[in-house]
Order: sequence, then structure tokens, then C-alpha cells
Amino acid sequence: MMRTFYIWTIGCQMNQADSDRLATALEFLGYRQVESPRDAEVVVVNSCVVRQQAEDRVVSKLWELKPLKRRDPQKVITLMGCMVSPKNKDELKARFPHVDIFLRPQEYEPLLDLLKERGCVEQVVNPFDLIPKAVGPTAYVPIIHGCNKVCTYCIIPYRRGKERSRPIEEIRREVQGLVWRGVKEVTLLGQNVDSYGHDLPGKPDLADLFYALSEIEGLKRIRFLTSHPSDMSDRIIEAVATLDKVCEHFNVPAQAGDDEVLRRMRRGYTVDDYRKLIAKIREKVPGCSLATDIIVGFPGETEEQFQHTLDLLAEIKFDVVHVARYSPRPGTFGAKFLPDDVPPEEKKRRHRAVEELQEKIAAEINARLLGQTVEVLVEGRQKDKWYGRTRTNKLVFFPAEGNLLGELVQVRIEKTSPWALQGTLAVPAAVA
Ligand code: SAH
Repeated sequence: MMRTFYIWTIGCQMNQADSDRLATALEFLGYRQVESPRDAEVVVVNSCVVRQQAEDRVVSKLWELKPLKRRDPQKVITLMGCMVSPKNKDELKARFPHVDIFLRPQEYEPLLDLLKERGCVEQVVNPFDLIPKAVGPTAYVPIIHGCNKVCTYCIIPYRRGKERSRPIEEIRREVQGLVWRGVKEVTLLGQNVDSYGHDLPGKPDLADLFYALSEIEGLKRIRFLTSHPSDMSDRIIEAVATLDKVCEHFNVPAQAGDDEVLRRMRRGYTVDDYRKLIAKIREKVPGCSLATDIIVGFPGETEEQFQHTLDLLAEIKFDVVHVARYSPRPGTFGAKFLPDDVPPEEKKRRHRAVEELQEKIAAEINARLLGQTVEVLVEGRQKDKWYGRTRTNKLVFFPAEGNLLGELVQVRIEKTSPWALQGTLAVPAAVA
């Protein structure tokens, strides 16, 4: 009989990568992934607690599993990810008695050991020794775990620990394995990807990793996220500018456009530092696209300080802005010492103001692509169209016959919106 598992994932790309790694290990051990927790012997909830909203969804997912566990007590219910800290497992067990096992981010052994103890699997495996299964032409590759920053709003360092970089050789092997399985594009992941390598012998940096991975034949594109404005070195920018495979796209969270707010967030830079960094990136990597993260309604954020954030967005004109309303996270400096004093209605208004401004900016930026021909890596099909992304990470839809999955094609852009582009094949691709 085939053993079965189900994984539900919420949160960042790192969480998705962690889920993929666990899935790879379980498949290696003879399990098959199923679409419903009902049909699974092992059920995993991979959690996110970066904001209350995510945490609430995790909690309701956990309660949904309770009747399933009652009906089938043999089911192994697992809570994994950032909801689990080194200290709160007992507390979580008391709150969710139907959950069998709690795993911190990337702590896979307790689950694998339990399956071994129960006789469900015969061997032990370290998930980091396996090449994650490739499900398409793109893949996430974690390169540095944890975060050494102390942003006052952020729970992540408490849940993912201090920074730990994976050796270049280990990453190279993993990417090579992925390419053999058909992957064309990798996204290198870290909470702070620019600080890659400082803890490794010889202190290689992200640029060194770019150079090493660029040599892999068959790999077409390299992306990376997320960058911290204080850690993005000239060497990294230079490598993006020089290396053909590294895409011209930067994810650099600004979080706010006001010095006082940035200071209270303990971001470690001023608005002017940020401005200069962006100017340098644009000078060295012309035509690059930029994404950022913004938090609205941070403790003490006045109307005027919020206006400074809107001013920064209007000045820089990012391609993409991810905006979030401040959500106090128990255990952080912010939750302890900074009163959450912007009312929910006001947070919502500021959220909407950022979105409205950004919609106009993105519409303008994307409209400039009208009539241009762009390179698209085809990632999938939706209804009657193929879709994929440009090097600058813009989503493009186009109709075409044949199987184009994983192909690099040239698409002429005929319609644009703030969120996506539509076009047609410029040069008919050689169809497999
Ligand atoms: N390493 C990244 C953050 C990763 S978390 C950085 O340098 O900021 C992803 C995003 O979630 C953050 O950029 C931030 O905008 C948002 N976020 C983190 N904690 C938050 C909180 N307590 N409330 C609201 N948004 C938060």
C-alpha cells in the first residue's frame, strides 16, 4: 500500500521551499502527495505568523483538522514553520491537543523519526541531501537561513534564528540537480539574501555565488530575494550588471519613507541612504525593475510621516509595492514597547492610498512596454493562454499552439495593465 501525505502552506517563498523539501523527503521515503487532508496519513500545516491575518488562517486550518483526527486517530497531524518557536511547543500542544508534532522551520527530523518509530518508513534521510523535486521550469533555492537584523516589527528572527549560509558547493549541486530535472530559472532565497556568506569559511558573498551558478549549463536565469538596503554591496550590483543569467530585478524593502519611522523600525538606514542606493542600482543596471515592501500604520506614524512614504513611492516609482498594515507580533520590541496607536480604519485608509498610487505608477511603467518585444520564460498555461515572466519579473500572457512549457520565447506586448501584460509570439518558437 502506498503511504500518503498532504501539505498546506502559507507565507513567504522560504516557506514554500521548506514545504517542497519536506515533500521531496517524504516521496523519497515512499509517500505520495495527495490533494486532501482527508486522504492523507501525514498532514502538515506549514505556518506563517508574520502578521495576525496569516496566523488566524493557520489557526482555522488547524481547527478544520480536528474532526479528521477524531475520526482517524492514526493520522499524524503536524504543525511546522514560523508558528513554532524553540520555547512554545508545550503551549501549542495544550492549545491544539489534536496536533501530534511541532516542527520549527526546517526542523524535519522529529517527524521523520516518528514515522520511523511507527514503522511507516525504513530509513532515515536528511532532506538537505536530496534535490527538491522540480515541478516546473522555475524553482526556489534557499541560500541563507535566518536573519541577524533586529527590525522592531518583525517576528522572523525569533522563529528562524540567526543567519546560516549554505556552502556554495552544496547550492551548486542542488541547482545542477534541478537543471537536470528541467529547471531553467532559480530564485535564490534568504530573509536577507545580500548578507549571504559572511559566516562561511573564506567569506564568499552573493556575487561569488552568482558567478559559480552562472557556469551551470542549461540554467537560463537567476533571481534573488529579499535584499536589505544596508547590505546590498557594490559587488553584488556589479555582478547583476555583468552576468547574463542574473535577472535585472531587485526586491529591496524600504518599509517607510520617513526617517523617524525608519529609526523606530530600527531599519538602519535613512530615506536618503535608500534613495542613493536606488540611484546607484539604476545607474549600474539600466532598465532594471524594482519591488519594495511598505508597512503602513507603524506605531506613532503621523499623517505627515505617512505622506513622506507616499512621496518616496511617487519619486522612485517602483514596479511593484507589497503593502501591509502594521500588526504587532508578540515577543517583538515593537509589541512590547511601541503602542499600536494607528486605528484600524486609518491603517486601512493608508493601505488603500498606497495601492491607489501604486496602481497608477505601475500602469504607467507597464504601458511603456506596449509594442516592445520581451523575453518570456514559459511557466504554465491558464485557460487558452501560456504565461510566464520577463527577466524583470513581469507576468505575460499570450496565446500559442504546441507545448511551450519551459521555453524561452519572444513575445510582442499588445496590451498592458498595472498587474500583467498580454501579447503574441514575436518569432514563432521551435515547437517540441
Ligand atoms: N527581510 C525582509 C522582511 C521579510 S517579511 C525585510 O527586510 O523587511 C516580509 C514583509 O512583511 C516585510 O518586508 C514587511 O513589510 C512585512 N512585515 C513584517 N513584519 C510585519 C508586521 N509585524 N506587521 C506588518 N507587516 C510586517
